[in-house]
This record gives sequence, structure tokens and C-alpha cells, in this order.
Amino acid sequence: MSGIKSIFRFRKALDIDTENEANLIAQSVNEGIVILDKKGTISLYNEGMAQLTGWAREDSMGLLYKSVLKFVDKNNQPLTDILNPFVTILKDGKDIISADYIIARKDNVNIPIKLSLSKLNPDIKSSKELIGVFRDVNTAQKIDKERSDFISTASHEMRTPIASIEGFISLALLENKNVKVEGYLNKAHEQIQKLGKLFEDLLTGAQVDEGAIEYNPIEINLNELILSLVPNFKRQIEERGLQFELNMSNDSRSREKTVSPIYYIKADPKHVTIIINQLVSNAMVYTYSGWVIIGLRGTKDSVEVYIQDTGKGIDKVDIPHLFQKFYRVDNSKTRDNGGTGLGLFIAKSLADMNNAKIVPVSTLGQGSVFYVIFPRLKK
Ligand code: ADP
Repeated sequence: MSGIKSIFRFRKALDIDTENEANLIAQSVNEGIVILDKKGTISLYNEGMAQLTGWAREDSMGLLYKSVLKFVDKNNQPLTDILNPFVTILKDGKDIISADYIIARKDNVNIPIKLSLSKLNPDIKSSKELIGVFRDVNTAQKIDKERSDFISTASHEMRTPIASIEGFISLALLENKNVKVEGYLNKAHEQIQKLGKLFEDLLTGAQVDEGAIEYNPIEINLNELILSLVPNFKRQIEERGLQFELNMSNDSRSREKTVSPIYYIKADPKHVTIIINQLVSNAMVYTYSGWVIIGLRGTKDSVEVYIQDTGKGIDKVDIPHLFQKFYRVDNSKTRDNGGTGLGLFIAKSLADMNNAKIVPVSTLGQGSVFYVIFPRLKK
């Protein structure tokens, strides 16, 4: 969106006659684009705008913007000047970035939109020419929904064949007596497991997007739940040549075996399992030597599961983005790991549903700790 605006500004700065070329660019994008001259008259208006407002281009060019762009509030009342973005931007000079508004179309149907509005010449204070980019929220949501439906169906359909291939490879491993073939089968097994996880993440990610995740909170004994996951984690971590440690004493630095208090939380056990699985899986994948520790501790009001590793760590600049969908720290090693960038997005979405927080603490080159903090259920 800001790209579109920069193109217009750039061409204007070079004093290239914008009219034809700007029109060409504007007609080629789906968003609605409108440019107003200093009198508030429409000097550029693209097909996207015509679709959105129902006003044809030839009818709108040269009109005052208020005749075409009718902003209304939730009660279908016209927006007063104090709230009209085209008025406020000229008053306080601040760009409006992706704000929610409602436009009344020519046929009086109300369309929710996202509007980005800025001055065409931001460097000139008195400049009154404006460029607005409009996005139809319903269409955008519809496209998002279609995309997530497709991912959801495709990944669901892939599950059965993947599980069956995995089963047959396991059978072949049992029957096989050839060392070389065993090596190939093990590799195939590892890859098919990765593929299974990838589809599982895509499916869960799509369900999170659709708000289609079931939420069945119950009282959980967190000590028990973690202990039930430990044998599997221990095996996988040790298979990678790393050491595993479980720390259920209240002091994370102490390696002494002390009797752990029992911690109860109210949450969906399937969600808690997915969150912990995800964090342990990341700790394993991004740690090339050393430890992975799973710990549990608590205070009067909160319970904390932490997953600590001595892995490659995460740069400060990446920390705020970790939970964004598809965010992957960009370096060659992570690419090799073939992740989706969905794991932490899923973990955070599930944590939110269960009133939990995930807090990452990491030092590049030294390792990371991910704390999952739940409100403690008093017993
Ligand atoms: P994925 O692992 O599929 O790439 P995630 O959402 O699980 O996606 O993680 C996002 C990014 O955060 C990863 O690409 C990785 O760079 C970084 N990351 C996550 N956990 C760790 C960890 N324990 N140690 C180092 N980096 C991590």
C-alpha cells in the first residue's frame, strides 16, 4: 500500500507528467485509489474505487470528493467533519494508516473499508493534495477465508496418506535386515515425520484463523501432564545427541532433586500439550549441542512451564516478531530446518485462548528460554 503511494510521490518529485502513467499504475491494482487536488476535487480515480463506491470513473473525475466518498458511522449517519479523515488529515497533518471506516456506496449499501490516507507532498506543509488507498474489508476477509479453507482441506486430506506411509516405513524397518536399506528407511521416516508436522501446523494454523479451534478447559494437574510427555521428549532429545533435563523443583538453577509442589491450572489439555510440544520441538531443532531443560515452577498466583536450551539463540531484533504468522529468523540454518514459521503463532494463539502468556528470553549464540505462564488454580 505504502509502495503505491511512494510510486506516485516519486513520479511527482521527478516532475514526470503523472496523469497517464499514474492512471496506468492505478488501474492495475485491486485497491481503490483516489487523488484529490488542493480544492478537494477528484483528480485520479481508479477502477478499484469504482467497484467500491459504485460511482463510475467518468462520473467521479472532477467532482468534489464529498459527492462520491460518503463516510457513515455504525448507525448509518454521515460522519461529521471532525471525524471525516479527509478533513482531519488537513487539520493535524498526520497520515492515516489502515484505519477502519464505513463508506456508503451509490446504492446505499454500506461497505467496511480500511483506509490509508496521506498528503501527496508530505514535505510541503501547506500542501493540500491527498492520496487515499481504500481496501474493501469484506473482500479481503473473503479471500483470506477461501485461502484458509483450501489449506485446511488440503492438509486434512494429506494426513491419512502421510500416516499410512509412516506406518509402512515402520513395518519395513522391522522386517528389514540390510544395514544400508535401514539407513535409507530411517531417512525416509524422518522426512515423512517432518512432512506430517508441516501439514499438522498448516491445519492448526488454518483452524486458528477461522476461529474453529475447539476449547474445552478442565482442571489440569500440570505436573502429571508434563510427566506424561517427558519419555517422548527425552527419547527425541537424546536421539539428537543432546542432553535432557527435567526440573520440577521451584528453583530453576538448582539441580538438586527436591519434592515438587503440585500445580493446577484451568486450561484445555490438548492446547497445553500442543504449546509445550511446539516449544520443545523448537528447542531441539535450534540447538546443535548441549541441553534442553523442561521446568515447572510456580508462585502463589501463577504457574510457569519453561523450556530452556543452549541453542543458537535469537537476536533482539527478531524477538518482537517471533509470534507473527510465518515469521522465520532469516538465516541459512533455519531454512535447512524446513519450518513453516507457524509454530510460535499457533502456540501464542492457543496460549491466548487459555489465558496464558508466552515470554521468550534469549541471548544470541547462547540459548533461549520460553516461559509459558498460566494463572494458578487454587486448590
Ligand atoms: P519455525 O520453527 O517453523 O520456523 P516458529 O514459529 O516455531 O517457526 O519459530 C519462528 C522462528 O523463531 C524460527 O524460525 C527460529 O528462527 C526462531 N526460534 C524459535 N524457537 C527458537 C529457539 N528455541 N532457539 C532459537 N531460535 C528459535
